[in-house]
Amino acid sequence: MLLFPMYIEVDEIYNLACPASPVHYQFDPVQTTKTSVHGAINVLGLAKRVKARILQASTSEVYGDSVVHPQPESYWGHVNLIGPRSCYDEGKRCAETLFFDYYRQHKLDIKFVRIFNTYGPRMLPNDGRVVSNFIVQALKGEDITIYGEGSQTRSFCYVDDLIERFVRMMNTERGFTGPLNLGIPMNFQCWNWLKKCFS
Ligand code: UDP
Repeated sequence: MLLFPMYIEVDEIYNLACPASPVHYQFDPVQTTKTSVHGAINVLGLAKRVKARILQASTSEVYGDSVVHPQPESYWGHVNLIGPRSCYDEGKRCAETLFFDYYRQHKLDIKFVRIFNTYGPRMLPNDGRVVSNFIVQALKGEDITIYGEGSQTRSFCYVDDLIERFVRMMNTERGFTGPLNLGIPMNFQCWNWLKKCFS
């Protein structure tokens, strides 16, 4: 729907568009970029017309294959622009650029947050991200898959905490734009985290 203009009357917009799991966003990468970029243009145009406050759900993936851990909001990232993940990473980066340009040029009341690895009830079993992968494999009594040495790091975020912070961010004063990272301020190594879960 976001790919097409929409004419509705609203006070606040939460733009959560685009699947976040690599399995799902890489299924149709062209559509993924279109959703992030065309979608941002349409919701920003809508916010401009109705003077709505608008919050963008951005992502820690804007930092790319980061060489800084943990990533502060001031870090500009280290992103591959032509790889299989680029449709998501660059789409979300371009959306952030659009948000800031609408803020500077059209004085929109924008907010944006960068979401880290979020988990919680009702995730799809084939979501493909580490928390649900481990849980689904454990429930099925299967071996648990560790990619490589398990040295990858992730900062996790529980879904209820995420939603509460969306609302708090939306209610901050005008001009408090973000970006604001949403995730615990430390990275877990996947292998160490798994050992903790089962010890
Ligand atoms: N738009 C929308 N709903 C609205 C107002 C605008 O979907 O209520 C779309 C519009 O079709 C346009 C985009 O948002 O493609 C950007 O609108 P904006 O006014 O910023 O730019 P312009 O229309 O001048 O290109």
